[in-house]
Amino acid sequence: MKYISTRGQVAPIGFIDAVLMGLADDGGLLVPERLPQLSQDTLQQWQKLSYTELALEVFSLFMKADIPREDLKKLVDDSYGTFREEDVTPVRRIHDGLYVLELFHGPTFAFKDVALQFLGNLYSYISRRNNSIIHILGATSGDTGASAIEGVRGKEGIRICILHPHGKVSKVQELQMTTVDSANVLNLAVEGTFDDCQRIIKELFADVEFKHQYHLRAINSINIARILAQTVYYFYAYFRLVDQGVAGDKINFSVPTGNFGDIFAGYLAQKMGLPVNKLILATNENNILARFVNEGVYQPGEFRGTHSPSMDIQVASNFERYLFYLYGEDAAKVAALMAQFKADGRIAIEGEALARVQADFAAYSVENEACLDAIEGTHKHQGYLLDPHTACGVTAAAHLAAAGEVTVALSTAHPAKFDESIRLRGIRQTYPAQIEALFNKPQFQKVVGGSNEEIKAELLRFF
Ligand SMILES: *Cc1c(COP(=O)(O)O)cnc(C)c1O
Repeated sequence: MKYISTRGQVAPIGFIDAVLMGLADDGGLLVPERLPQLSQDTLQQWQKLSYTELALEVFSLFMKADIPREDLKKLVDDSYGTFREEDVTPVRRIHDGLYVLELFHGPTFAFKDVALQFLGNLYSYISRRNNSIIHILGATSGDTGASAIEGVRGKEGIRICILHPHGKVSKVQELQMTTVDSANVLNLAVEGTFDDCQRIIKELFADVEFKHQYHLRAINSINIARILAQTVYYFYAYFRLVDQGVAGDKINFSVPTGNFGDIFAGYLAQKMGLPVNKLILATNENNILARFVNEGVYQPGEFRGTHSPSMDIQVASNFERYLFYLYGEDAAKVAALMAQFKADGRIAIEGEALARVQADFAAYSVENEACLDAIEGTHKHQGYLLDPHTACGVTAAAHLAAAGEVTVALSTAHPAKFDESIRLRGIRQTYPAQIEALFNKPQFQKVVGGSNEEIKAELLRFF
C-alpha cells in the first residue's frame, strides 16, 4: 500500500516513509492510496479474532508491503500486551440501546494509548531497522504527552521531549508525564499556554536544517499510523455486539471529538465495509465541527474552557482528510479549500456537498452543564461513572439516536483522570492503584520560559 497527500503534490510513498513524514511535505495529510474493501466473508472470518489477532489483520492491509508479518505481529503483541484488560478494549452494556467501548485500559488511562503504544514500538522498530536515532518532539495539553512518553520510555534509539504548559494540565496528567524516570525522556514545563507550546514546536519543525540534523519526528494525531491503529476497535466493538446478538442491523457509534482523528478512523472503517448506521460526532462547547455538519460552515469560534479539555480545540487537524473523501479524492479541490481557509478563516459548503456531510455524520454540541448532568444521571441510574469526554458522546447519542437503534459510545478516558469535574456533582471515586501511586513519586521536569532559543538550548543538551 502506498500513501498520497490530500493536496496531491507528494509522489506515492510507502508506509514507513509516511510515518516518518508526519505532515505531508506539501502541507497536506497522508492517506492510503486506496482503501481496502472488505467482503462479507472477510468480516465473518474476523468475527472470532481476539483484539491482537484482529489488529494484525487490519494492519496487514495497510502495512504488509513495508513490514514482514512476523515483525508486525510482534509489534502488535508488544503494543497491546501493556493493556490491563485481556479484551484490550472491552464493550460494556449501559442499558438496551447504549453500550460503552472502553478505550482507556492502557498505561495512561486514556484512549490515546491505543495508537501511541503502537507508534512508540513502531518508531523503535524503524530506528533499529534504519540504524538511526529518532528524536520525538511534541506539545501536549495533557493526554497526548503522557501517552507518548509511556509509548517510548526506556526504548533504545529514541529520545522524546514533551512541552506542556506549566501548571495548566490536570494533576494526574502532570504526574503521569513527570514521574517517568527515564534517561530518554525530557519534560519541559513552559511558562505559558498550550498555544505557546504548540507555536514553539511548529517553529522548531519549520527550521528544516535543525529538523533534519536531529531527525525530529512528530507524534500528533496527523500521523497516519495513529489513525490506522484506531480503526481496529470499531471492528472489534461491532463484533462484540454481534456476539451478544444485538448487532443484527447496523449500529451507531458516538465519538467525543477534538482533532477529528478518532471519528475519522470510524469513517474509514465504514468506508472499508463495516456496517455502521450513524456516526455521531459529539463536541463540547468548542463546537466548530458540529456547526460544520449542521450548517456547512467551518470557522473557528471563541475558545471555551470546558470539563473535557482534550476536546477544547478550534481547528481540527484531521479535518482535511475528510474533505479529501467528501470531494471524491480530488486533491486539487482540497488544496483550493485549504487555501481559502487560510485566506478567509472559513470554509462554507452547501447543496449536494452539505447533504453528503449530513449523510456521513450526525452532530451535536454538548454544553458544560449537560455534560455534568450525563455523568450524574448515568452514575445514579446505571451505576456507571463516565468521564467528561465520554459523557459528551453519551449525551449526543441521547439526542441523535432514534428509538430502537443501538449506539456504541466511545469512552476515551478513565474518570479518575478528570476527578476535578466529577467532584462538582458530589461524586467521590477511588483512584486505580496505578494513579494513586503517582502521588508519591518524585517528579522530573524543567520549568522554562517560552522563548524558542531557550527550548532549543535544552534540546541540544538533551540530544
Ligand atoms: C484526544 C482526546 C479526545 C479527542 O480525540 P480526537 O481524535 O482529537 O478527536 C477525546 N477524549 C480524550 C480523553 C482525549 O484524550
